[in-house]
Amino acid sequence: MRYAILGDIHANLTALETVLASIQSEGVDRILSVGDVVGYGAAPTEVVQIVRELDVVVVKGNHDAACVDELDTTYFNPYARAAVDWTREALDDPDLEWLRALPLVQHLEECTVSHGTLSHPERFDYIQCTEDADPSLDELDVPVCFVGHTHVPVAIMRNIDDPTRTSYTTESEIDMSTIARAIVNVGSVGQPRDEIPFTGYALYDTEAERVWIKRLEYLVEREARRIRAAGLPGMLADRLFLGV
Ligand code: ZN
Repeated sequence: MRYAILGDIHANLTALETVLASIQSEGVDRILSVGDVVGYGAAPTEVVQIVRELDVVVVKGNHDAACVDELDTTYFNPYARAAVDWTREALDDPDLEWLRALPLVQHLEECTVSHGTLSHPERFDYIQCTEDADPSLDELDVPVCFVGHTHVPVAIMRNIDDPTRTSYTTESEIDMSTIARAIVNVGSVGQPRDEIPFTGYALYDTEAERVWIKRLEYLVEREARRIRAAGLPGMLADRLFLGV
């Protein structure tokens, strides 16, 4: 089985189209999404439509939850809050209902999907170090849980030869045959924050026992123009060029 896993898309249509073209050339059986399908970007309707049409296995992110009034945005930064308010107005009712119906966790045969932690997905806590990942690794009953939320790709794992120790790697190829359990952050399709202004996604081949983090250049300018034209804060366009 070959899975493609999409990190936070954040309504970035150009980035999503670039990623989907790559996925098509890779030959993938199923597409998964770690949530934050919308928020920040200016193409929520188009992006939700594509994700729905492709029957992507999706979980709910904190921005998705905020758009359907399930999360208090007091703690969002002003730009994020402005984007949530804009997105709520931009989406029609069926798409808002689709967002509302998304589960917090998806359990598949060979992997699990969550936005933040697997231990408390409803809190949308960030996994930023090995200690943050430990409760989720304890919960995990399949080889890997794919997550997003920080927009920074990293794999945190316990190896078969020393399952008591949690370590991490930022390598773009992860050999799952030596790993007992892993939390893999797949980065972000639509708003990378590792100072590399490329889109990206993860590929998981269960037979090859490999996960690859793919990074791809895309037309940032086109998406930045869409954000400015929508009247969203200009900072949300500027940051795409910097990957922050
Ligand atoms: Zn996000």
